[in-house]
Amino acid sequence: MASAHPDLLKGLKKLGSSAAEMEDETQSACHSLVSLLYGGSSTESLDSIRYELFAKKSYSNEKLPPTMDAFQQHLKRTNYQTFIWAHATQQYLKLPLSETSGWMKDEQQQLVLRLMSQPAAPDAVLVFVKCGCKSDCRYRRCGCRKEDMVCTTDACSCDSEQCINRVPYEDDTMIQTLRTNSCSWMICQKLNRSRPMCM
Ligand SMILES: [Zn+2]
Ligand SMILES: [Zn+2]
Repeated sequence: MASAHPDLLKGLKKLGSSAAEMEDETQSACHSLVSLLYGGSSTESLDSIRYELFAKKSYSNEKLPPTMDAFQQHLKRTNYQTFIWAHATQQYLKLPLSETSGWMKDEQQQLVLRLMSQPAAPDAVLVFVKCGCKSDCRYRRCGCRKEDMVCTTDACSCDSEQCINRVPYEDDTMIQTLRTNSCSWMICQKLNRSRPMCM
């Protein structure tokens, strides 16, 4: 792929040259590379490729390209890590705060990935996700689980005793936060999961 797009190499080579900021050329080369990997053109936005693949319905949600927002967060971490590797022979490195480079602190002040800075879909869409499962909502055929959302008493008609896709206690504000921050670490932590549900 690199030989077919020699123009991208120039931008990609500069990845990790500065930990604090990335040149536009590098950002756009990385974006083009990922667009090409997902079958788009080098100038097509990830959001539009994501939409096209979603509309074809032949890809499950987890196989879709990341949103532009999630990609930007990932790219910041990639640049930060590449900077560390590229300067591994130096004893002291001046690094920017991890919180400005694609990570954030959770409630216990532990660094966790900032998977996205915006909700995955407008609130109006997220609050309409619901299920009517007769089983325990364990598998992705549960509509909520499929969208990486927790089930709630208000929206879902699954059995609250049986359903394992719920937070242990339902607090209105927390549910609201969970519903508008799908795939965040918070959901997984509340459900005692070691990885985000979206993985
Ligand atoms: Zn369900
Ligand atoms: Zn359920």
